[in-house]
Amino acid sequence: MPRTALFSSLVASSRTFRHLLHSNPYVSNDEAWTAKKIVDFLAGGAGIPGVRGIQPLRTGCGGHGLVYELRGSLCKASEEYPPTVLLRSDIDALPLTERPSSSSDAKSKRAPVSSRPGAHHACGHDGHTAMLSAALLWLSEHPEILGGGRVIAVFQPAEETGDGAKAMIEAERAIAGSPDASLFGIRSISRGAFAFHNIPGRPFGEVLFVRQGVAARASTGLEVRVVGAASHASEPHLGRSPMPVLAALAQRASTIPQEVQRTSGQSLAGPGGAALVTPVHMHVGNAGDFGVLPASGKLCLTLRADNTHAVEALVEAVRDAAEEEATLAGGGYEIAMERIEPFPAVVNSRGTTDILTRAVTAVGSSSSSWKSVGDFVERCGATEMEKPFPWSEDFAHFTSECGSGALVGLGAGEQWSALHAEDYDFNDELLPLGAVLWVEIAREALKPTPQ
Ligand SMILES: [Zn+2]
Repeated sequence: MPRTALFSSLVASSRTFRHLLHSNPYVSNDEAWTAKKIVDFLAGGAGIPGVRGIQPLRTGCGGHGLVYELRGSLCKASEEYPPTVLLRSDIDALPLTERPSSSSDAKSKRAPVSSRPGAHHACGHDGHTAMLSAALLWLSEHPEILGGGRVIAVFQPAEETGDGAKAMIEAERAIAGSPDASLFGIRSISRGAFAFHNIPGRPFGEVLFVRQGVAARASTGLEVRVVGAASHASEPHLGRSPMPVLAALAQRASTIPQEVQRTSGQSLAGPGGAALVTPVHMHVGNAGDFGVLPASGKLCLTLRADNTHAVEALVEAVRDAAEEEATLAGGGYEIAMERIEPFPAVVNSRGTTDILTRAVTAVGSSSSSWKSVGDFVERCGATEMEKPFPWSEDFAHFTSECGSGALVGLGAGEQWSALHAEDYDFNDELLPLGAVLWVEIAREALKPTPQ
């Protein structure tokens, strides 16, 4: 099949595939159906006549994770560690109910709405999956692009809960027997790890990245549980309600980073901005129990900063503040804290972002060989960010395991609905752009290095 026709067929198939995933979303750690559909799509060559399809190297990796391996046409079978680049897509949806915008313009541009209430691909991981799938099938048809190198492609579950990347790495270590021999280890992935995330609100085609340093912030959820003593509501002096402790802590939360700075003299602010302690949920007693002074309650907080060390300083400061408020409320409380969904910071490395900028140039330059496949390539350009993305990403586990990496944003359009919004849908126009960018990243990463 001619190059342009094959590419158009791949984009059309991956769009249909993306819509299938979008209308059947499965949340973190429940992606068995999603993983099976990815395997089917890739094994069947996207349903395109003449495309051979590819089989996974691993299934069920760290839950419902998949790993694919592609070898270049010059890659020696005997070589244990050929030059290798890791390409990663996340595959999970969010526990939200989709409510699409009612405007007909928006309707015509979107995938069919989720058929599973309470689950919504509201972060575009359906689109990330389709982009990487299209790129892998293109590369398997053109192994000369990879030369003497190899691609390890990862479809990662449970990104939203922050445990999928870690689980995949641990599962691989268990198979390999030692961290050094792991498929994701530094010796195996010698040319860096890459991940894309679509970024609504930024111009379409903008490729956003931090050249070197923190690219997405560290964070953790923190549940603060306070236990006092129950009593009849008519005799509150005989009990100890956790209410005043939790209310005071919730009010004080946002000023805790400044408190740390005042007491330690050390600022927790980094390039990403100020450190944050944000109350997100509070629960005390039971609604309807008007006769009971409650004994226990909890406050949930999200802590965010540029690195794990600063997040740990915030955790300790929250503990101190909770104990102080408990004493002020009369004492006699038990306080327990639990970290939930901790994310380390993603750190981009210079060598990897240099590969990225060369790939962006190859796609978007006036002499781009991709011009014939669509005018979307003309809108592709690199934008270096001064600040990291404000959110967190568990891709951090791959960058630290592989020794180098880059988290890359793809501008989805200025008018596009925000990530995690009820009416969010992935912008299908990004599919061909993301696919060619993946192909060029693989080509640039695996070029022989000068001796
Ligand atoms: Zn996401």
